[in-house]
Amino acid sequence: MKKIIITGGAGFIGSHVVRRFVTQHPEYHIINLDKLTYAGNLANLRDIENAPNYEFVKGDIVDADFIDKLFETYQPDAVVHLAAESHVDRSIASPLEFVMTNVIGTVNLLNAAKQHWKGRYDSTRFYHVSTDEVYGTLGEEGLFTEETGYDPHSPYSASKASSDHFVRAYQDTYGLNAVISNCSNNYGSYHFPEKLIPLAIHNIKQKKPIPVYGKGENIRDWLWVEDHARAIELIFHKAESGKTYNIGGHNEWKNIDLIRLLCQVMDRKLGRQAGESEQLITFVTDRAGHDLRYAIDATKLKNELGWVPSITFEEGLEKTVDWYLDNQEWLDDVTSGHYQQYYNEQYANR
Ligand code: NAD
Repeated sequence: MKKIIITGGAGFIGSHVVRRFVTQHPEYHIINLDKLTYAGNLANLRDIENAPNYEFVKGDIVDADFIDKLFETYQPDAVVHLAAESHVDRSIASPLEFVMTNVIGTVNLLNAAKQHWKGRYDSTRFYHVSTDEVYGTLGEEGLFTEETGYDPHSPYSASKASSDHFVRAYQDTYGLNAVISNCSNNYGSYHFPEKLIPLAIHNIKQKKPIPVYGKGENIRDWLWVEDHARAIELIFHKAESGKTYNIGGHNEWKNIDLIRLLCQVMDRKLGRQAGESEQLITFVTDRAGHDLRYAIDATKLKNELGWVPSITFEEGLEKTVDWYLDNQEWLDDVTSGHYQQYYNEQYANR
């Protein structure tokens, strides 16, 4: 049986990756390592928590001794690394936390892999999950390819870029078997409502203002989270060591157009008058250093490994809205306590 540590498995994307590996690979033993920060929630994994090939371990990747012991105890064959501080606004407020988890935490995992897998790098794998934000911003034209130079602008993207470089350095220098993927913005179920789509769904439902940065002109490329998890599973099994793949859905939306579409879907689902929810759109002071446009060219992944998104954005958005409307209890849980305090601080003065 192959033992795989998935870090950050209680988070948004991590929970989908854990679910995919646990359900599609009963022959693997999956160890979900997560610190359970505000973004980690074991309720994201209720449906598989009793699976015989699944185990949860609470721990912090910043703690090098703990990571070393974890490798000693479990003798894993692979790591799929998603644990990170992931919210750009939070990185602007507290950059050091992002350096600790995203950079130091990644290097701790690389060191443990280097040491414990010595002599058997070929039969192991370090999979690092990263973001398209490392490439910086695009103008009106062009797409990010795997050859695009790194040009991160936020503390979040700078910390992810740094962690990508360390993974490549360990592959080049020590011969670690490592792969990286850089994905565009994800959306779907279990997404923490500090991010644009779940925040808008939550506020529309409650008839609260929907905060939109600047004039909503920024463009993001959206991918359904379950398609991302499927791409990770494929790359994990098929990619050669040292390779990087971009993952994206060729699905660019201006923030304001996306929010308008979401308002239409929500009006229909909630039986409200057409145009009612759009009244809630509230433009707020733009994020500092806000990148204008991200867009991924995923041709390499399509040509080499045959991956394409399974559903359109319109289908994915319907599914996502339905999930949030059907899972009020999950939303109530994550939007109480700390979330309320964060939300109030974030938008109080805008
Ligand atoms: P998330 O914030 O929802 O989840 C992060 C998880 O990591 C949480 O469960 C948290 O508890 C855990 N964690 C944080 N610090 C930790 C630490 N020190 N030790 C152990 N666990 C810790 O993030 P997400 O949106 O699911 O993103 C997952 C990964 O995918 C990240 O590496 C992110 O950079 C990358 N990514 C995200 C997107 C996106 O659109 N969300 C797009 C591309 C890439």
